[in-house]
Amino acid sequence: MTQSLLIRNGTVIDPSQGLEGPRDLLIREGRIVALAPTLDTAQAEIPEATSILDATGWVVAPGFIDLHVHLREPGFEYKETIATGARAALAGGFTSICCMPNTQPVNDNSSVTAFIVERGRAAGLANVFPIGAITAGSKGAQLAEIGEMKRAGIVAISDDGRPVLDNGLMRRAMEYATDFDLPVVDHCEDCCGAEGWSMHEGVYSARMGLKGLPGAAEDLHVARDLILAELTGAHIHIAHLSTGRSVELVRQARQRGVRVTCEVAPHHFTLTDRDLFESGYDTHFKMAPPLRSESDRAAILEGIRDGTIDAIATDHAPHHANEKSVEFDRAANGIVGLETAVGLTLDRLVHPGIISLSRMVEMLATAPARIFRLDRGTLQIGAIADVTIFDPQRRHRVDLAASHSRSRNSPFDGWELRGAPVATVVAGQLHQ
Ligand SMILES: [Zn+2]
Ligand SMILES: [Zn+2]
Repeated sequence: MTQSLLIRNGTVIDPSQGLEGPRDLLIREGRIVALAPTLDTAQAEIPEATSILDATGWVVAPGFIDLHVHLREPGFEYKETIATGARAALAGGFTSICCMPNTQPVNDNSSVTAFIVERGRAAGLANVFPIGAITAGSKGAQLAEIGEMKRAGIVAISDDGRPVLDNGLMRRAMEYATDFDLPVVDHCEDCCGAEGWSMHEGVYSARMGLKGLPGAAEDLHVARDLILAELTGAHIHIAHLSTGRSVELVRQARQRGVRVTCEVAPHHFTLTDRDLFESGYDTHFKMAPPLRSESDRAAILEGIRDGTIDAIATDHAPHHANEKSVEFDRAANGIVGLETAVGLTLDRLVHPGIISLSRMVEMLATAPARIFRLDRGTLQIGAIADVTIFDPQRRHRVDLAASHSRSRNSPFDGWELRGAPVATVVAGQLHQ
């Protein structure tokens, strides 16, 4: 690739080098080659055939990385494929996505990992980084082929969708993961006698007559993981943290020096079980972990504000309409999220003053790159040119019909949001 691209007049925000200010950015052969207050096309270093993007009024940031998506291929291509998910990612401002292993077959061996890597490359859209299973078939009985998957390209291990309930097995998984320098990502949900739950346990589950999952089911599991991480020295990454006590447990463990990081999904900082109640059994408000109480949401906002929560990840979980158009307790868990995350983060966190633009970029790019040890998340000279460009002020209406995902399961259709992604650059290639 000899093409070069000059992004001019934008505000560059790159927490990896403590930078926030007007800068022009020059990309050549897929790498960042210059970053300066003014780069003139007359300068010798800028080739004649350079394309120019005027970013006046926009923020130019390291490419956003989603640590938690479900791409459904292989096995459930009617919900999403690697290519449609990677397309939705670019439309939503993400240049990299990390995909969970709960496909069919499960990504628990190097041949599935290699297949995903190859399909991601062939699509040529957002970078696709696979996450391998912790246990064979994610069945929670014996460890998967972690070393072989690492060689084939996984960036973390997780049995997302299912928690690893066996403490001894989780301890061994953490020990193996440490040998391979992989983070262990856990979906924290102890059953607490709540099998078959369909929402958060509380006043609204009682009113709606639905079986609830208490916040304690997550808290117990987070506490267990933190204790095992402390024992093994492993890096534990808590997926889609949703309760106030989980935030507190992570905060305390980090003070003790436990290697813990965590992520939150936009729906958990935006919605509560009351929104589900008011929706009147709308299955687009059903996911795991469930929408929690207002006090949980308030604690999450505080965890985002004070830095306890490291990253924002979507838990993008596409489902066919038929899997949502059923009774509430039978409906599939999860919502799509790739194309609404940036708008929700700007509208719900940045504009109300909970976080700064720089902290937003840190939560969507710098921290995710660090957590999964990706050679991304920075605009330093020489870095791979993955860039996200967004307009913090652009007002728009969420229109699911225009989504690039193969599925439409979202509670945010028709929402008016302030702030939107504008363009992405992946290894120097502009997508607009
Ligand atoms: Zn999960
Ligand atoms: Zn998930």
